[in-house]
Amino acid sequence: MPSAVQTDPASSWTGLDTSAFCFESPRSPDTILFESAQGVRLTDAAGREYLDGLSGIFVTCFGYGSRPIADAVTEQLHRLPFNPPLHGTSRGAVELATQLVRLAPAPLSLAKLVNGGSESVEAALRLARLYHRERGEPGRYKVLSCYHGYHGATFGSLAMTGRPDTTRFGPGLTGAVRVWTPHSLARLPGLRPEEAGPQALALIERTIEAEDPSAIAALVVEPVVHLLGMAVPPPGFLPGLRRLCDRYGILLVFDEIVTGFGRTGQAFAADTFGAVPDLLCVGKGISGGYAPLAAVLISERVAPVLATGAASYAFAPSHTYAANPVSAAAGLAALRLYRELDVPARVTRLSGHFTALLESALRGRGVLRSAGLLYGITLTAGPSAAGDGAGGRTGEGVGQAVARACLRRGLIIRGEDDWVVLAPAYVSTEADLDRIAALLGAALDEVLDGAR
Ligand code: PLP
Repeated sequence: MPSAVQTDPASSWTGLDTSAFCFESPRSPDTILFESAQGVRLTDAAGREYLDGLSGIFVTCFGYGSRPIADAVTEQLHRLPFNPPLHGTSRGAVELATQLVRLAPAPLSLAKLVNGGSESVEAALRLARLYHRERGEPGRYKVLSCYHGYHGATFGSLAMTGRPDTTRFGPGLTGAVRVWTPHSLARLPGLRPEEAGPQALALIERTIEAEDPSAIAALVVEPVVHLLGMAVPPPGFLPGLRRLCDRYGILLVFDEIVTGFGRTGQAFAADTFGAVPDLLCVGKGISGGYAPLAAVLISERVAPVLATGAASYAFAPSHTYAANPVSAAAGLAALRLYRELDVPARVTRLSGHFTALLESALRGRGVLRSAGLLYGITLTAGPSAAGDGAGGRTGEGVGQAVARACLRRGLIIRGEDDWVVLAPAYVSTEADLDRIAALLGAALDEVLDGAR
């Protein structure tokens, strides 16, 4: 049985002056001061335990306290913590790029290592424009991205992000154009679910034509859209985008910062959904959370632009910590674990178990979507289930209420508007997943049915 309501995150802060600290997420009574972690459980400063149903935020796929990754990072810190980036690189960075490219579907053949997801999106945007300019099409500067997509917090990636609150910073990248996802269209009255994919493709093609195809450099998408509560693409949608991009000479960019590295049951969502992009951004789980690391994987079509000459020189000013040896060591150790655990098979097996548990916890009170160990639930029942579906923050929706009820029971998930999302670690046991589902079920009973 799930335990009764037990946590009070606010008390973990007792005695700590936080006045100089700019919080990552606006501070609330639910904000926790974390002290330590092991496996899939975190402990706060007051000694309370939290089961992590979100892998941090899609990051700690191999759990906390992983000896193999921590040891590899520690050893690297002692041997070569940094190298002069203008004068060379490290063996580990080269090896990591080789292994990432091997993991990725062909024709992705080159890896640019950076420190975080936003940086990898920035690198993809710069590369897309550079590619067209080098090929004699300098007029291609526009970039299409989806309403409700999230791509990061730097100006370029923010300009790709389709959330209403990004406009608070004024104009971003010139030439940012939004398109609708199938999931958003599916909310329109009268549209049958199976029509959403083809309709979205038709609308995107109209947008391309209206924006002048010869002015468009790239189309950036998350294969599974996080801020729509993990909207899984309908069959044929991503291959359809691939065909559209080929037809109009546009580079296809997949933001796989959440979906990459085994999360959907194959190495990349590109494998899972049958479409390979020209540029693929990967981050988060790639280092398991043991060092800041991300990458953009580059196809054989685009890679030659960086082979020699002025363009590669122009692209070269990178980030000081890009391809740093410590992050590379974390990435290599995470990749070793990925192979040892046979992550795709393990994720697929655990996903079968967890999906059944979630369906029974949900008891028809919402719609469950999943791809591997990535889950989204749109809540359709309950007193306050009317989210705006816009991925914006519109006050407390039923998603937040359920996430807070989970937290009070010691379970970390994410909820906004009318949805919640979960992403358990790859190292979770079936017993961990049983517990997550039981706690979520109890939270749903409380919020949707008023049970205590
Ligand atoms: N793209 C997606 C899909 C993400 O979920 C995120 C982060 O949450 C980013 C990009 C930005 O990554 P980072 O926060 O590592 O800069």
